Amino acid sequence: MKKVAIIGGGITGLSAALTIENARKEGADVDYIVLEKSLRLGGKIRTERTKEGFVVEGGPDCFVSTKPWVFELCRKLDCEDSLIGSNDALKKTFILVKNKMREMPDGIMIMVPTKIMPFLTTDLFSWPGKIRMAMDWFIPKKKEAGDETLASFVDRRLGREALDRIAEPLVAGIHAGDPETMSLAATFPNLLEMEQKYGSLIKGMLAAMKARQGGAPHGAGAAKPKGPQRTFFMSFKRGMLDLIDEVLSALDKEKIMLEASVDRVVQTKKEDGSTQYRLHLESGSTIDVDAVIITSPSNVAADIIDELDGSLAGALREIPMVSSATVSLAFRRKDVKHDFKGFGFIVPMAEGRKIMACTWSSSKWGGRVPDDEHVLVRAFVGGARNQHLAAVPDDEMLAMVKSELKDLMGIDAEPVDTWIFRWPGGMPQYTMGHLDRVAKIDELVAKHPGLYVAGGSYRGVGVPDCINSGAKAAESAMEHI
Ligand SMILES: Cc1cc2nc3c(=O)[nH]c(=O)nc-3n(C[C@H](O)[C@H](O)[C@H](O)COP(=O)(O)OP(=O)(O)OC[C@H]3O[C@@H](n4cnc5c(N)ncnc54)[C@H](O)[C@@H]3O)c2cc1C
Repeated sequence: MKKVAIIGGGITGLSAALTIENARKEGADVDYIVLEKSLRLGGKIRTERTKEGFVVEGGPDCFVSTKPWVFELCRKLDCEDSLIGSNDALKKTFILVKNKMREMPDGIMIMVPTKIMPFLTTDLFSWPGKIRMAMDWFIPKKKEAGDETLASFVDRRLGREALDRIAEPLVAGIHAGDPETMSLAATFPNLLEMEQKYGSLIKGMLAAMKARQGGAPHGAGAAKPKGPQRTFFMSFKRGMLDLIDEVLSALDKEKIMLEASVDRVVQTKKEDGSTQYRLHLESGSTIDVDAVIITSPSNVAADIIDELDGSLAGALREIPMVSSATVSLAFRRKDVKHDFKGFGFIVPMAEGRKIMACTWSSSKWGGRVPDDEHVLVRAFVGGARNQHLAAVPDDEMLAMVKSELKDLMGIDAEPVDTWIFRWPGGMPQYTMGHLDRVAKIDELVAKHPGLYVAGGSYRGVGVPDCINSGAKAAESAMEHI
């Protein structure tokens, strides 16, 4: 029976495995094996559930509900009931501007104002800043459609304040990225399309909202989906690791190898002359397969592929990676004066702070703390412009975050527990030229029938995109063999 090797047991690799497992259940004559370097599955999806009852996310804490792939996966696994919506009664985000927390006005979609009154009355922007943003309505679209940096685009359409106060901290929160280098076409292609189609982002957003309100909520005639009410951000009741556990429950555990680090992949010939791939593991053993899906981050994929194709390895290495860390702190509610009425805050670079953002996890989600007597917050450190901070020793990192929370939220209590998760080189950066780089990678990969790369490094960093990417690679691998 022909066999597919999946390198990496993060959500991309497990989604690929599930696609093959489902095909097997429907009679496909194909085998698979997942090789995961570490002792655990999930990759960047990492949830700690403590005996005291804290549920702490180390990596992603949610996914966007605008993309269908997590829902589709949950539907197939019949686990929609393990989903959870955000606690939208407290849906407020704050932005630190000139050292003061200001509420993000209602109606700001991505970074574009769509409601007049909240926009006019907000203290987030100055009057000249507001007038400049409103000019988006009149500024003609760029003549030559094409990519540009996120910073240049936002500055051109909405002005510097929108860039500094919303766009920059927003992309720091999503991509740990720097808008001065990020490709608009690779990160927010919908904004590029809106400008071309409507000549204005505000007009484009209003049209999109109208279309959403006009359409049937879940597709014409479709039944209401199972599971909780959908909010913009969704998660899982017991944390994002539920997603991994659910996928795992549908897989054959015999086909998953932990502590199986793949050093390199080379091409060999079978006795019948057909091509196969030989995986060399760190342990010294080898595995021969008919197709390989590499789901490790692109820079690691480069090392694995180097011997097989130096040019492909070179192209993979061109995708930059940045480091970040998340620091979670649990407090007794009575020890802190803050009301935690909101989802948290983001911090523009211009503020010169040492954290990029802070999520008030116990406000945003139910079930993250043992009881109402406790609160849980999570700070983000590092990112494109402050990578060095993600590497400081634990005690220094904790002291730094505590000092920022004291300054920004007035918290000077001792936490009852803390958790630090580091993601060195964990965030792929979709910088200018990213789409060309990915096209080049596709072209070079295609020279090796049966070889695929998938995951957050290429066409979307979010969990839904990774699920889609893994599933597509598995379908291609099955077609190939
Ligand atoms: C701090 C942080 C917060 C995030 N927040 C969100 C969020 O809120 N929402 C969202 O949608 N996305 C978020 N993301 C992005 C998202 O988590 C990732 O893009 C996604 O989980 C990547 O999944 P993956 O399977 O492609 O890669 P990974 O999770 O990196 O998995 C790759 C796997 O490959 C294994 N591996 C590596 N090398 C080898 C080797 N040589 N041999 C065998 N195995 C190997 C690794 O051990 C790992 O398990 C966040 C990311 C980070 C770092």
